[in-house]
Amino acid sequence: MNNTITNKSLDANSTVFDVGIVGGGLAGLSLSILLAKKKYKVVLFEKEKYPFHRVCGEYISLESWKFIENLGLNLSGLNLPIIKKLIVSSSNGKWINADLDMGGFGISRFFIDNELKKIAIENGVNVLEETKVNDVVFNDEQFVIKYKSESVACTIVAACFGKRSNLDVKWSRDFIKKKPGKLNNYIGVKYHIKAPVPIDTIALHNFKNGYCGISKVEGDKYCLCYLTTAQNLKSSNSIKEMEQNILYENPFLKKIFTEAEFIFKEPVTISQISFERKALVENHVLMLGDAAGMITPLCGNGMSMALHSSKIASACIEQYLNKKITRLEMENQYQRQWKNNFGKRLKAGRTIQKLFGKEIATNIFISFLKPFPFLVNKIVKATHGKEF
Ligand SMILES: Cc1cc2nc3c(=O)[nH]c(=O)nc-3n(C[C@H](O)[C@H](O)[C@H](O)COP(=O)(O)OP(=O)(O)OC[C@H]3O[C@@H](n4cnc5c(N)ncnc54)[C@H](O)[C@@H]3O)c2cc1C
Repeated sequence: MNNTITNKSLDANSTVFDVGIVGGGLAGLSLSILLAKKKYKVVLFEKEKYPFHRVCGEYISLESWKFIENLGLNLSGLNLPIIKKLIVSSSNGKWINADLDMGGFGISRFFIDNELKKIAIENGVNVLEETKVNDVVFNDEQFVIKYKSESVACTIVAACFGKRSNLDVKWSRDFIKKKPGKLNNYIGVKYHIKAPVPIDTIALHNFKNGYCGISKVEGDKYCLCYLTTAQNLKSSNSIKEMEQNILYENPFLKKIFTEAEFIFKEPVTISQISFERKALVENHVLMLGDAAGMITPLCGNGMSMALHSSKIASACIEQYLNKKITRLEMENQYQRQWKNNFGKRLKAGRTIQKLFGKEIATNIFISFLKPFPFLVNKIVKATHGKEF
């Protein structure tokens, strides 16, 4: 069944939507499915066209497995790699490994986002692809979402627009106003590769001012994704040159970059990544996923937080739409629950981020941890949650 409606039919149909969702990544798609299953009228705006690649390490903590299956995606039938081991190396080639308590699974965003989009449409969500939202205005207990030269009215709006969006700039959010610094000037680079790497292991290879994750996804592909400072790129003429000059210093990375088959001609990239704190509600709009705050990628838990935040938000929204709580109570409840679930994790993530990528600190850290693999497990645990 294809329920996707065109912008024209949405405009002609002047109904008020219960919920408007800006951004169709994991937070937005899962929220739309949860609410549509409860028979609310939902419209979701995504500026890109599915399926598409995006920068992400594509390792999802197993805490999300059941939640994703409940949305309607049969993960068990997809023969996905289950990842239960971790190897961490420093730029001087020293390494440690550990078993992961919870572990994760590998799946590409190209695949999972598109599958969730199909499930959203099957459940009656109005998915508007290639439709960028230009503004959201709140007036008289109602929102107007503006896109292209059109607009639509919604009772509630959820911002699921990721790390950095045109709306962050338009709304002059606090983290946008910060000067480039330690927490807000990173770039991300991703490739899909074919390489002889163990399928049950996620590798985290450090280099000067950055780290690179490698783990298997569906089919015979691996995701290779790294985060580094904008400064690292500035000091080279190109991504390729930066990889050769800086990433290759780690012998593990040199081997992979020179021996693996790279499936993309060019990598997928993003810039201006910020780990600064963000507001959870902006002018009555609920912020979800990375739009609410980003955990450092080395924790491998941003996708689970995005999914989990949609579960929290959908329960709050439902209570408001059923007139059990006021708008203000809904906003406060959402913020409280978000902080309870993710506050500690983000703090742990920021602390670990400070250590990783700093050459000397990482080298010492890895040598120190080598005899105590259970400590590695403990650190990973601090950045993960429970099944939800
Ligand atoms: C280098 C790197 C590696 C990572 N690796 C991992 C990992 O291995 N495991 C993990 O769990 N997490 C990882 N993460 C984090 C993870 O990618 C994010 O936490 C997750 O994607 C957040 O989902 P989201 O739905 O909030 O945002 P996104 O998935 O970014 O989706 C936001 C969507 O909003 C759309 N959008 C933006 N503005 C507008 C607009 N105005 N109108 C319409 N649409 C709009 C965008 O096109 C996008 O599709 C990594 C992050 C980085 C940077």
